[in-house]
Amino acid sequence: MPGKRPEAGHEEAEAGEDGAEEGLGGLTLEELQQGQEAALALEDMMALSAQTLVHSEVDQLYQEVRPLGQGRFGRVLLVTHRQKGTALALKRLPKMSTSLRGFLYEFCVGLSLGTHPAIVTAYGIGIESADSYSFLTEPVLHGDLISFIQPKVGLLQPASAQCCAVQLASALEHIHGQGLVYRDLKPENVLVCDAACRRVKLADFGHTRPRGTLLRLTGAPIPYTAPELCAPTPLPEGLPIQPSLDAWALGVLVFCLLTGYFPWDQPLAEADPFYEDFLAWRASGQPQDRPQPWFGLAPAADALLWGLLDPHPRKRSPVGSVEAYLGQPWRWPEGKTEGLEEAGN
Ligand code: ADP
Ligand code: MG
Repeated sequence: MPGKRPEAGHEEAEAGEDGAEEGLGGLTLEELQQGQEAALALEDMMALSAQTLVHSEVDQLYQEVRPLGQGRFGRVLLVTHRQKGTALALKRLPKMSTSLRGFLYEFCVGLSLGTHPAIVTAYGIGIESADSYSFLTEPVLHGDLISFIQPKVGLLQPASAQCCAVQLASALEHIHGQGLVYRDLKPENVLVCDAACRRVKLADFGHTRPRGTLLRLTGAPIPYTAPELCAPTPLPEGLPIQPSLDAWALGVLVFCLLTGYFPWDQPLAEADPFYEDFLAWRASGQPQDRPQPWFGLAPAADALLWGLLDPHPRKRSPVGSVEAYLGQPWRWPEGKTEGLEEAGN
């Protein structure tokens, strides 16, 4: 089984931020307009934010308490405001690897989305220092979801897995409603608010882009990469991105929450036997074809994940489909056999 722990990097590179014409890459006119409106609103917000950046070294304004996390691009610190003592999370992006535009983009996307209860609240403070850009958000102090995903031992309580899934689905629905695609759903970007992991918040909007932005895959795909991004793109510049990319990633994340493993390493039938087995199971629908990583999942989880992990983006269930499966078991209790499991199918 793809026994690697769920952690993954960014694999797509932008090919441009223009929209596409109606029908191009499967985008409808309405979808294209929604993405273009989101892009225009963000450009306005970025222009205003550029004018209001605070120019200062961070330690003149804030006292460092401890590191909260390190991503591929940013370092996040718990800080306190030197005068008020307020605790805040400060994300610092080095100028070496982040342009002013890249910083403003992430800052403004976070600001425009942060009113949702399952999205980390952003404060409208952007700071330019000699060698970095920084912005402030609420600190979320129980770490990120990666430490709650463990093979076999330490699996999340079933109720917690459902809580996480429905909150993330709601956060993604909100993002999609704003004409944006999140594009970076993985446990490291999900912050945990309590010890039982009943409340989570989505963070890190560095990869969020308007719907219809053209993107192509550059490196090797990861489990969260939707299959349409692995295939040759309809346009040479790339694939016009759609919310269905996030639905795929949500399916993979829910699978990880329930089993502690990835369902596959990459969604490429010719390269990944686990994905090939999944496709064969989908095609036959037969209990005996259930791939080994899927043992232990209950029918409601099968149905939810088959919808979110539909290889065809237009047929894929939207993130909001999670709601329909709440309150039903998603895993069988340890020790319950496959025969019993399939009897419920
Ligand atoms: P990157 O863009 O480099 O991936 P992230 O924004 O994902 O950076 O932050 C890196 C890590 O810092 C996250 O994986 C998480 O563990 C931690 N982190 C980020 N924001 C917060 C926050 N507001 N409160 C607590 N921890 C955070
Ligand atoms: Mg991150």
